[in-house]
Amino acid sequence: MTESTRVRWPAGHRAALVLSFDVDAEYGVINASGSDDWFWRSQARYDLDAGIWRLLTILGDFDVSGSFCWVGRAAEDRPDAVRAAHDGGHEIATHGWDHRHYTPMSADEQRQDLARTRETLQAITGERPIGHKTPGWRFNELTVPVLQELGFRWNMDVASADLPYLMRPDPEQPPLVQLPPSRLWDDYTYFVDATVPPRHVFEMWRDDVDVLRHEGKLMCLTFHPFVSGRPAPSRALTMLLDYVVGLGDVWIARADHVAFWWLEQQKQHTGSGR
Ligand SMILES: [Zn+2]
Repeated sequence: MTESTRVRWPAGHRAALVLSFDVDAEYGVINASGSDDWFWRSQARYDLDAGIWRLLTILGDFDVSGSFCWVGRAAEDRPDAVRAAHDGGHEIATHGWDHRHYTPMSADEQRQDLARTRETLQAITGERPIGHKTPGWRFNELTVPVLQELGFRWNMDVASADLPYLMRPDPEQPPLVQLPPSRLWDDYTYFVDATVPPRHVFEMWRDDVDVLRHEGKLMCLTFHPFVSGRPAPSRALTMLLDYVVGLGDVWIARADHVAFWWLEQQKQHTGSGR
């Protein structure tokens, strides 16, 4: 990459970092292994009863903002937690009504699932969510067209890049900004699928930041309050924020802020982008 093609992030920042938090509560577990799985349900319920509050405190201590992607039923269970995230300056986005995967769903089923989740969140905060992450990142070919049709502006599902890009299946409608995630940027990989010491997770993500900062790119991390909101795993986030804030030239921003900034840039470069 030459200096001329390098992305120029706002205010001279060398790279961007989005912290996203998927609030599944027990609905991810119920969908994966049934409502009788009380062991995992109680593990995941930590999301709302403890984890989210610890994470909100950490973000507040560093004075940084993230994007909270809510399962609709979890929001309905604890509107106070949605309000606390919103009042803390964080973005509120959608993460499915009850964490059912979208892969087997028709366009109409996805439309209904998204609309119901968005309305529930809007009723709590007064603001209409414009971002969406599909449960388990299990989208299908209909997901982006439906999101675009419903007026969503960003999606964090398609893990095939490390810069944002525009998706515009309907050329007559405003585009959707794809903010690529990665399974290596997901706390679930290190603390649920495996058990890795938080220091090692931090080292992995620090190396990611170093490479992306050198190249001028974007890192979109995914946290779960019942995973990274636990005491020791929360240190991976704290150590990362200590490091990144200390660098002083990485833009830590909400997903909607990155998406709107990216849209603005594309408009300036191509005269389109809306
Ligand atoms: Zn989830």
